[in-house]
Amino acid sequence: MTPNGTPALIGGGPPFNKNFTPGHEYMGTVAALGPGVDEFDIGDRVTVEIHAGCGQCKRCRQGMYTSCHNYGLNYGDVDKGHRANGFTTDGGFAEYAVNNINTVIKVPDDMSDEEATLVVTAGTSMYGLTSAIQNFFLDSGPSPYVILALMVLVWFLLGMVIDSISIMLLTVPIFEPLAAALGLDRISFAVVGILAIEAGLLTPPFGLLVYTVKAAIEDPDVGVREIFRYSIPYWIIMLIGIVSIVALPGIANYLPNQLF
Ligand SMILES: [Zn+2]
Repeated sequence: MTPNGTPALIGGGPPFNKNFTPGHEYMGTVAALGPGVDEFDIGDRVTVEIHAGCGQCKRCRQGMYTSCHNYGLNYGDVDKGHRANGFTTDGGFAEYAVNNINTVIKVPDDMSDEEATLVVTAGTSMYGLTSAIQNFFLDSGPSPYVILALMVLVWFLLGMVIDSISIMLLTVPIFEPLAAALGLDRISFAVVGILAIEAGLLTPPFGLLVYTVKAAIEDPDVGVREIFRYSIPYWIIMLIGIVSIVALPGIANYLPNQLF
């Protein structure tokens, strides 16, 4: 489970079989609210984050609450606040379970109970995918510029077929940590990303921006081909912009630095 150290131990043993009801990932319906809770209503369908951090240790403060230093320290007279569903507190097979509001998330009406139960599990594979991709690139050792060029290529190709918001949702969770690990300047990286995606949106055969313009123009004489042709100069300007910012990352920060 943990390649970089021993797993969390409780009383010298692993955190299992401590007479808690099992059930790590689950969904449920809110049956009662604690004092001061107005974020949820009785009857809300919620999915449950599997850990609650103590909120105070170094790892929790860094957002790494699943490896909380107080993992499992809620036995006997000790309670440091960390919970791991089904291991160090009652889990999903219990009829009722107590959860901190930070660990429950409302489920949309069009999501089934079965899907809601799998949200955390599906998320886990995404975290794993992100670090697997990062490790692949960082360990196999191409230069940061080659990796950046690959990311720009992916953005560009995606820009040819899908819209920019979807591209960002798909790629930023994977690319941003990779760029940070490579030591790329974050603002210039973001500007390069926006330019690459927008350039893709102008590129045949599916350049969405071109079809949007075509749909907005009433004139039947102005065809898609013409709009593509007249957008070429802007496309070239964007490519020059990408190359310039990669070569001189300070460019992307120049205006913000002047303003603030
Ligand atoms: Zn903690």
